[in-house]
Amino acid sequence: MSGEVATPAGGADAAGRAALLEALRAALGDAQVLCDGDLSAWELDWRRRWRGKALAVVRPADTAQVAEVLRLCRRHGASIVPQGGNTGLVGGSTPDDSGTQVVLSLARMNRVRAIDPANLTMTVEAGCVLQAAQEAAQAQGLLLPLSLAAEGSCTVGGNLATNAGGTQVLRYGSARDLCLGLEVVTADGEVWDGLAGLRKDNTGYDLRHLFIGSEGTLGVITAATLKLQPQPAAITTAWAAVPDLDAAVALLQRAQARLGAGLTGFEVMNDASLALVRRHFPALPKPLPPSPWAVLLEQSDTEGESHARTLFEDLLGAALEDGVISDAAVAENLEQSRAMWHLRESIPLAQAEEGPNVKHDISVPVSRIPAFVAATDAALSAAYPGVCLIDFGHLGDGNLHYNVQAPAGADGAAFLREHEKAINRQVYDAVRAHGGSISAEHGIGLLKRDVLPDYKSPVALALMARIKQALDPQGLLNPGRVLR
Ligand code: FAD
Repeated sequence: MSGEVATPAGGADAAGRAALLEALRAALGDAQVLCDGDLSAWELDWRRRWRGKALAVVRPADTAQVAEVLRLCRRHGASIVPQGGNTGLVGGSTPDDSGTQVVLSLARMNRVRAIDPANLTMTVEAGCVLQAAQEAAQAQGLLLPLSLAAEGSCTVGGNLATNAGGTQVLRYGSARDLCLGLEVVTADGEVWDGLAGLRKDNTGYDLRHLFIGSEGTLGVITAATLKLQPQPAAITTAWAAVPDLDAAVALLQRAQARLGAGLTGFEVMNDASLALVRRHFPALPKPLPPSPWAVLLEQSDTEGESHARTLFEDLLGAALEDGVISDAAVAENLEQSRAMWHLRESIPLAQAEEGPNVKHDISVPVSRIPAFVAATDAALSAAYPGVCLIDFGHLGDGNLHYNVQAPAGADGAAFLREHEKAINRQVYDAVRAHGGSISAEHGIGLLKRDVLPDYKSPVALALMARIKQALDPQGLLNPGRVLR
């Protein structure tokens, strides 16, 4: 069996599409079926790279309405693109340009259904914005430990559909690790209520894990039960200057040994990535003067502020003495801590300002990151003299955003058109040579669909295709994403 899957018939003819629209309006109300006017908020992705044309954008209010939308689309042979905050970076959340696909926006399904402090869980609807879910947990003195720069607009459903990672994976795991249960509408419009709040449940196949990371291709997630943590007594942040990536890995090992489970974030940035931030957001405060690499460390402490600061000062003082770091600053207060994170999280925004670039979201074992970066930097600099390598990411869990920007003064869009495929090949071959993955946290979508077969086992791809065939035999859910 190959990794290919059945593609939908392409929807009905014009009369069939008109009948579908009429049925959708009857089910949801006219105001929640958008066809006219500017639909670019749903049809254009965050990177402004994929622009499609939807038959309609539908906005159901509850799970029963989602199920009805799926039944109607199935009856009329129309395919569906589930969408949360539309912050995905791989072209998975926007429609194709056929004008036949229905974008199913979960945005109105944004309620926190329940918080159970004794069970340390919360149940939220899929369209709940991540930051709103974090704030609801915080209001009960609890922590939802999923954090990413897009948290003000991405949704819990999108986070689960992409198995989002972010900045705290090294301590709490990715979205998959935080999910205890799901509610899902299947391709034929049935509702699976799997909203268990159980940490132990061995009653057969664990279906939730099929839907997590499936990028809208197997079912529509309508709600989830997530694990919470007690709020730490203090969260402190530090910034360190390091001469190279070997030193950054050495600092990580020291931090893990000294802080144990208290180490909740360890981000790395090369100076080229921070130079972009300095250029596009010059007013942002800088904790330290430029250095070849910088590390942002976050510590969550159960004992309190002064205990946390002492641990950090001991760790960084010793690292300074041993030459592992060349400088360090510990945030004095919440404002300074937020400023450090803001600087790190401004890198993707500065890249967007700078113009088109070839993005890679890769992971390799932490121990092999310095060798991977040295080899790949050298190969790309030789092949494309003057190219700008923007390296940053979640070193603590082996995930780098290894992005390639055109040489200064060159036309970025033309550079991308001409060289993207060859650059991808070079980077992904190096990832494979270092035992890594071509998608650490953003997923496959359209961006990596066609290269996936070159880097994933044929057996795994065939199993994926069989699962798709079993759960969505008509190929109506986000067709052409992840699998061809
Ligand atoms: P969308 O973009 O709307 O959709 C993403 C995919 O999920 C699509 O395939 C869509 O069809 C599917 N989908 C959405 N909702 C559902 C649903 N309810 N049921 C089924 N399928 C669904 N990602 C990380 O992992 N870590 C990061 O650190 C990170 N940082 C980012 C920083 C910035 C500035 C930006 C713009 C993005 C970043 N991302 C990161 C990528 C993105 O934010 C995540 O992938 C996020 O999880 C997507 O959520 P969303 O609600 O926007 O989903």
